[in-house]
Amino acid sequence: MQLRLYNSLTRAKESFQPVQAGQVGLYTCGPTVYNYAHIGNLRTYIFEDVLKRTLSYHGYEVKHVMNITDVGHLTGDRDMGDDKLEEGARREGKTAWEIAAYYTAAFRRDMERLNLLEPSIWCKATDTIPEQIELIRTLEDKGYTYRTRDGIYFDTARFPGYTRLSHQNIEALQEGARVEINPEKRSATDFALWKFSPADVQRQMEWASPWGVGFPGWHIECSAMSMKYLGDQLDIHCGGTDHIDVHHTNEIAQSEAATGRPFFNFWMHGAFLIIAGGKKMAKSEGNFLTLHNAFIEKGIDPLAYRYATFQTHYRKPMEYSPEAMAGAVNGFQHLRNQVRTLKEAAGDRQGQINDRLRQKFMGEIGDDLNMPRALAVMQELLKSQLVAEDRLATVFDFDQVLGLDLNRVDKTDALPAAIEQMVAERIQARQERDFGRSDELRDAIEAKGYVVQDTPEGMKVFKP
Ligand SMILES: [Zn+2]
Repeated sequence: MQLRLYNSLTRAKESFQPVQAGQVGLYTCGPTVYNYAHIGNLRTYIFEDVLKRTLSYHGYEVKHVMNITDVGHLTGDRDMGDDKLEEGARREGKTAWEIAAYYTAAFRRDMERLNLLEPSIWCKATDTIPEQIELIRTLEDKGYTYRTRDGIYFDTARFPGYTRLSHQNIEALQEGARVEINPEKRSATDFALWKFSPADVQRQMEWASPWGVGFPGWHIECSAMSMKYLGDQLDIHCGGTDHIDVHHTNEIAQSEAATGRPFFNFWMHGAFLIIAGGKKMAKSEGNFLTLHNAFIEKGIDPLAYRYATFQTHYRKPMEYSPEAMAGAVNGFQHLRNQVRTLKEAAGDRQGQINDRLRQKFMGEIGDDLNMPRALAVMQELLKSQLVAEDRLATVFDFDQVLGLDLNRVDKTDALPAAIEQMVAERIQARQERDFGRSDELRDAIEAKGYVVQDTPEGMKVFKP
């Protein structure tokens, strides 16, 4: 069945064709490991996971590369500010290497909790310094670079298609960048390929290079690693929409300048999460919600967040509020209850996947990952007249893409409706940080003979 994906390069939905029949090279920009990922970042990783599962569901073998940015990503835009890793090290009194290891582990835990499939290849920026240096040398040989006092820069004026992805107006951009602090840059859009270690500060992460001791710019790592690990299979490159104007634009410019060939055929971007009231979620904004403080602490299963993100198309901004989240928690619980009831009805009978609904589901996810409509097909299936075991077999088939772990719904952990009601109220109370009410509800549930546990996977209620 045809798979159509929205390509940010052409701004249109296109029929997807990989470079090599049956195989897909997928590169997703990974985290900068200086802090926890916020739930807006995680929304993008969920979208990428659904993309990967959709490709597999459509029969493709997917080679997925994800990088870990552990050096070179600066706190300011356009090559200004401090390295985020060195800043994190000062903030926490650890080494930059310890910071990277700690937050990489935290990110991988978040991935597990959201049921995100592991990439085929993980790669770290600090493990590919020679490849990055080599790529910069190629650009230098071809005349795309120039030297300033603080580093080696890419001369964007020499690359005619610079705004092909961002569709930005370059004059407006130059105009808007008058506050640019580095007067040695020839153009506001030029960017650092290699930065020199400052003379007065000892950096923790630095390497020798043909241009002097220093560290790579952020953008060059993704070009070097995608080409190293995917070779010619440059099919799909993903990230958040915030990567379009600078990071991905610069990746395309330096890669195509170096190789003289197109760099990735499809570019796909996940939209922002917006806090109710219109604020963008960002580490710098003080509205920093993590899987832990937004959900786990409140007894919410992180998979309920995965489910919540399916209710908005990945290219549309998603509005987050505790109320909307409580609705998604209820919806997810309801879905799990429906599956539990089916399991009881099906007993040990093995069912058949319903082909008509499978085709319909495949059509919806294959239409640029339309998850709201895919969830509607799931409801159509659950409410259909098919025998329970066929419905169940089809649910599990859909769950290969949804990744909601529906096969782990145990038929023995069904709760009476009155208890379910109290559980829902307790989740609501914790959302509202009404811990007095939350404790009351726990006592009430326990008085009925159940155990209540708050775990990293959410609130667990069961018969002892
Ligand atoms: Zn990247």
